[in-house]
Amino acid sequence: MSNIVAEIHQEVQEMFQELTDTENVSIATVEKQVSAAAGSWGQRLSEAILSETASSTDGSPVSVPCPSCQGHSHRHRCRGRNFTTACGVLRVLRWEYKCKCGSIHVPWEMRQGLKGQYTQHVSATMMRLAAQLNYRAAAVELKHHGIEVSHTTLHQKVREWSEGEAVSDYVDEQSLDAGARWYVSCDGCHINSSQGWKEVKVGCVSKDYPHTNATSVIKMRPSSPRYVASESQAMDFGQQVAALAAQTGIYQDENTIDTEEVVVIGDGAAWIWNLADEHFPSATEIVDYMHAKGHLYDVAKHAFGEDDRETVETWVRATETPLYNAETSQVVARIRDLGKQNPTLSDVVEREVGYFEKHAHRMRYRDLSEKGYQIGSGVIESACKHVVAERCKQAGMRWSKPGIDAILFWRCLLKNEAWDTYWDTQDTQTA
Ligand SMILES: [Zn+2]
Repeated sequence: MSNIVAEIHQEVQEMFQELTDTENVSIATVEKQVSAAAGSWGQRLSEAILSETASSTDGSPVSVPCPSCQGHSHRHRCRGRNFTTACGVLRVLRWEYKCKCGSIHVPWEMRQGLKGQYTQHVSATMMRLAAQLNYRAAAVELKHHGIEVSHTTLHQKVREWSEGEAVSDYVDEQSLDAGARWYVSCDGCHINSSQGWKEVKVGCVSKDYPHTNATSVIKMRPSSPRYVASESQAMDFGQQVAALAAQTGIYQDENTIDTEEVVVIGDGAAWIWNLADEHFPSATEIVDYMHAKGHLYDVAKHAFGEDDRETVETWVRATETPLYNAETSQVVARIRDLGKQNPTLSDVVEREVGYFEKHAHRMRYRDLSEKGYQIGSGVIESACKHVVAERCKQAGMRWSKPGIDAILFWRCLLKNEAWDTYWDTQDTQTA
């Protein structure tokens, strides 16, 4: 056995003696000295335990199958390698195996579920902090946890370890209670890149019960919303949302899904409705009510000026009633009236008339509300803030596509309560 045990034993005794001999020793002194020493004891003890087992010849047969060619690879030499653990950086002596095919591998390492030089505990802590704090702040926090990783390494690992991963692979299946509905909501938000602003798309799958009174239309009571977010083209993103929906449970029993059960809700963006057509063709489609109302404000502000709030409010309130009642022709007529009074508005008028006519079938608000549908997209708007903006829209941040997609993968894992599921699958993998 390594003499490290005797060494540590000696140090423990000395520390005990020294601290008990100190007159009126304070709790702070004991805390400081014992925890500092404990770190060193832990590191040396772990290192000794691991080297003893990984370098033993008993547990390391002379020959094992080669992972590259399935031939025989032979125990070659015992070498040290550094591993970053919660007990500090440990130098572990372990056997390398060499094969005639040229491959060198370390069976001991392959059994550990390591991510390169990092233990799973350390790599999970690294990702958890990087998902929530900017890289520099995360590196500082990690150091506080005794893990020394530079912010550039952290950034690199965030990308490396999420490569080829899909958020939807780690969501738990949910079932839809009788009478409840699935909501698929989508939105876009903008982040800064070196080429200017880029759109990040966010999708959410959630469930809701029909609302029985019209006053709760904007409030949503979703259970366990699941998110996906990335800087993707519409087609790719559609696949990601469809995969999330399928894993969460929307298609778990395709035959029983009826048209009342799936709702797609979004703003006026064309990609959302193309996505709905392709992946949720029988869904009830709803343009977010607040967004539609926002368009009324836009027209009114153009017509009456931002400053004339009273006139703007009066016009919007009067137009909101036909909007809510799905009387599109009246909404359009009121917008056109503004254009007649002020010909310079013609572009705005045409654009907004087009918007209301195009989405009329997605704006049956009274009818939808009476049937208990959610007509506001509060869930997805809040997702844009808490999934994306909180981490990715801090001052001075500029994102590359791989960089933003990687960080959003980790953030979605956290928000989807899928963190443990992901790390459980990593146990059996090797890096
Ligand atoms: Zn081989």
